[in-house]
Amino acid sequence: MIAPENSQTPKILIIGGGASGLNLATRLGKTFGKKKSAEITLVDENLSHMWKPSLHEFAAGTKGGDEEISFLEHSNRNHYSFRLGRFSGVDVANKEVILDPVNDRNEIPLAPMRRLPFDYLVIAIGSRSNDFGCNGVADHCLFLDTPKQAKILQTEILNLCLRLQTGALGTDTSQVKICIIGGGATGVELAAELKEATEQLARHGLHKLLDPESVHISLIEASPKLVGHLSEEISQKVAARLQDLNIDLRLSSRVCEVTDSAVFFEDGIDIDAHLVIWAAGIKAPPLLAQLSVLETGSLGRLKLKPTLQTTAHDMIFVMGDCAEYIDPSTGSPLPPRAQVAAQQAVFLERQFRRLFARKSLLQFTYIDRGSLVALSNSSAVGALMGKAFGTFTIEGWLARRAYRYLHFAHEASVQGISRATLRSLMGHAMKRIRPRLKLH
Ligand SMILES: Cc1cc2nc3c(=O)[nH]c(=O)nc-3n(C[C@H](O)[C@H](O)[C@H](O)COP(=O)(O)OP(=O)(O)OC[C@H]3O[C@@H](n4cnc5c(N)ncnc54)[C@H](O)[C@@H]3O)c2cc1C
Repeated sequence: MIAPENSQTPKILIIGGGASGLNLATRLGKTFGKKKSAEITLVDENLSHMWKPSLHEFAAGTKGGDEEISFLEHSNRNHYSFRLGRFSGVDVANKEVILDPVNDRNEIPLAPMRRLPFDYLVIAIGSRSNDFGCNGVADHCLFLDTPKQAKILQTEILNLCLRLQTGALGTDTSQVKICIIGGGATGVELAAELKEATEQLARHGLHKLLDPESVHISLIEASPKLVGHLSEEISQKVAARLQDLNIDLRLSSRVCEVTDSAVFFEDGIDIDAHLVIWAAGIKAPPLLAQLSVLETGSLGRLKLKPTLQTTAHDMIFVMGDCAEYIDPSTGSPLPPRAQVAAQQAVFLERQFRRLFARKSLLQFTYIDRGSLVALSNSSAVGALMGKAFGTFTIEGWLARRAYRYLHFAHEASVQGISRATLRSLMGHAMKRIRPRLKLH
């Protein structure tokens, strides 16, 4: 039995303040932290939270950084504690996590190496890009896993366009060539957003000096189909929209090597590229495979029971992208999606309520409500699912509204409905007074 001893205030430690971790910390703070019936602590290696599904918009410069949520401020309002630190291990015998130091950009420590105690641990550290061992990817590609990487990407793209405009890219070069490898939702969303952003850049940012067609974007996918998890009909609609945007689609094209100036394919073809972005799949953070005390499965994700407890230790729970939850209805692991992360956070709050009430734990059931892919600022396409209306395809402006609602629902769960509504209204107002694109 893992219920807490009566005499002590149980300590719940959540590692990772992303889509699932921040949601759970907020809920547990309100449920237990406020009454002081449990101590809730959130650890993250960053000081702020950013909604990961918006990273492609930050990378394209169509969104600014004002949507970040400060953990220090948020924890004060929501009755939990925040600790800055990089999770690197678990000492199960002493019920402590080990945190590696976090330094500032001058390599001066902000938080030293230390240990934090727990009675219950929830691991929610998300995922990373998976290069599948492809030659040159680690050295020559940019990735879109973190806000820092999104910022680097935004700067690199702006710099390339400036170089083209000023002639610094070479007098014989008339186009900036960007390759995105991976035709899943991330690659598709990034390609569409970048295309729209670079056209805006040409028209408004680098006024009249850059032809809208001077940024050439290729989207490369190894399989014959884009957004493989969605239906053939939706995949074709996505492909048609990307072709309308003049994106060079290369399906059934398996990359075997990336260098500093080209992408090479298995069939012997190669294409030149000034910038290559790798978005071809994910894996769990490699440190999880090094934790000998926990069991890992495919893609290095932590194995768990239907209760979301790890297979190795009942007091350690896992959720989100780094969890390998095998869905009993399909026999396959759940996909790495914000929808799964949110449902698991809601479920774990209920689970802790039951645990502290000494009731038996429940089994998690995932409800797939469909999937939407954003195709630039004004459009999206996807399928929605519901008991009452079955599955139906949705596209265009309405789909884009539904896609935006996903972000709003996340904001509402971590900020409350009134704050989320205010932030959304302010976001609309700011769009009117700010440049359409971030140009620095
Ligand atoms: C560009 C892009 C677009 C996407 N679009 C969609 C979409 O449209 N719909 C959808 O459902 N999903 C989408 N996703 C996937 C979705 O973002 C993830 O499934 C979701 O964020 C997973 O939530 P999580 O809590 O597991 O991890 P994350 O949200 O990634 O959070 C992980 C947290 O852990 C912290 N962390 C990591 N390592 C450590 C460590 N060692 N120590 C301390 N802290 C650590 C990080 O700083 C971060 O705060 C998209 C992803 C990307 C990259």
